[in-house]
Amino acid sequence: MDPAERGDLFDLVQESIVVCDAAGRITAWNAGSTELYGWDAGQALGRPLADLLGAGGDDPALLADGRWEGELARRAADGRELIVEVRRIVRRGADGEPAEIIETARGITERRAAERALRESEYRYRNLFQAMAASFWELDFRPVGQMLREIRKAGVSDYAAHFAAHPEFVREMMRVTRVLAVNEQSVKLFGVDDATALLTTIDRFWPEASTGVYADSVVAAVSGRPSFSRETRLRTLDGREFDAHFTACFPPETVADGKLLIGIIDIGERVRAQRQLQDLQAQFAHAARVSMLGELTASIAHEVNQPLAAIATNASAGMRWLSRPEPDLDELRGINTRVVADAQRAAAIIARVRDMAVRRAPEPRPLSINAVVEEALLFLHHESQGKGVSIELALDPDLPSVMADRTQLQQVVVNLIANAIQAMAADDGPREIRLRTGLDAEGKVSVKIEDTGPGVRPDDLPRLFDSFFTTKADGMGMGLPICRSIIETHGGAIRAENNADGRGACFAFNLPAAEV
Ligand code: ADP
Repeated sequence: MDPAERGDLFDLVQESIVVCDAAGRITAWNAGSTELYGWDAGQALGRPLADLLGAGGDDPALLADGRWEGELARRAADGRELIVEVRRIVRRGADGEPAEIIETARGITERRAAERALRESEYRYRNLFQAMAASFWELDFRPVGQMLREIRKAGVSDYAAHFAAHPEFVREMMRVTRVLAVNEQSVKLFGVDDATALLTTIDRFWPEASTGVYADSVVAAVSGRPSFSRETRLRTLDGREFDAHFTACFPPETVADGKLLIGIIDIGERVRAQRQLQDLQAQFAHAARVSMLGELTASIAHEVNQPLAAIATNASAGMRWLSRPEPDLDELRGINTRVVADAQRAAAIIARVRDMAVRRAPEPRPLSINAVVEEALLFLHHESQGKGVSIELALDPDLPSVMADRTQLQQVVVNLIANAIQAMAADDGPREIRLRTGLDAEGKVSVKIEDTGPGVRPDDLPRLFDSFFTTKADGMGMGLPICRSIIETHGGAIRAENNADGRGACFAFNLPAAEV
């Protein structure tokens, strides 16, 4: 074929085509070669290929076999290194000697770089997977996907409701979810000899009580959230349960592949330490309540005595009326009703005192803060009256509930008001307490107790909530620290300041509104 004709033909091909003579000089250079290497035909023709591209000289294998394929590193006109995939053939002349070498080449630099990046990322991921102190599992959840598609076809659209109504369906999802791989830490955490022991279905690791957590993670995955994380209890193969922090990631790439990565951290130690701390706090709070009740004994006795005295009076009046020749039954019924009401009042006071006195685990419930304040005031009614203290209430009627233990919260309010009464009783000024409830700027439910006592010395303000800080001769200095511990375990904050008008102190705390 005429070289010019052949050149036109070569230009139709996108790949690089280069022809060299027996001495390795370039005799044909198509548009694809210009595109790939950056040299144009004028620069390339007549030059030895090995000089121009920095590599790819005679290959002994090529000359022996007459053909060669492989990857070569070459240099482009702008100095860049190129990785090219090359195919070459030798055309021989009539004498059987090599006459020319024809090669086609394709640049694969980018493909190689992408492959290398992928390999490196895979390597990093594998390293992390193995070396992390958390237990990692790779799960195959394609069968779960299949089950979800089936119920969807059958008309289920709210997965969360379906899972809640059919826990057996959730268990079945676990039974079909297989563990594909686990890391070294999993072998340690689950106490098995070797990783293959864990390559089973995940229902074996999930106690019945933790089924809901698995259901929630599936809901999170299908609703497109990137991850899910929750504390739960898991089980080793020999049946030992432990507290775990469970995290599942749903990157779209692996999800499309039907794979899921989960991480498990043993938080047993942390949970045990937390429980001990809570228990200790509850013990302190209880001890402080009992001592507070001790201080209020006179008031409480008075509170109980009042209805008892009324009962005694009414009962003896009733007896007298009964001894009349014709007792008035309506009057007697009335007197009896009052006796019953007074007996109930006394019983209610004793029940309140007992609630404060017994030690039991805190029970957080949605509560109305106003009701807690009003109940707490019942403890202090006699105390405040006896010391000539007036209490003005401004309770916001539209407050959301707070999630709290009733007795502990009452304890806080009783403590703060008792402190205010004591501060004012030791002073000659006016004796007024203003108690307000409301919503603060953070959207939390707040309680503010202002008094008109002497206030707190500015130097003492930062130490008020320290354990054993007291300015009273017979003080213990545990009231305020316990108030703070109670408020903080409920997710709130407490602070003290002196009133801006220079008269008295203000104690305020807030609590997050209960989630509805
Ligand atoms: P205690 O009552 O045993 O001293 P607390 O922890 O309840 O322990 O209070 C610590 C200190 O805080 C008190 O000794 C007092 O100096 C100060 N304090 C508390 N409430 C008030 C108040 N309303 N006005 C002034 N000082 C107060």
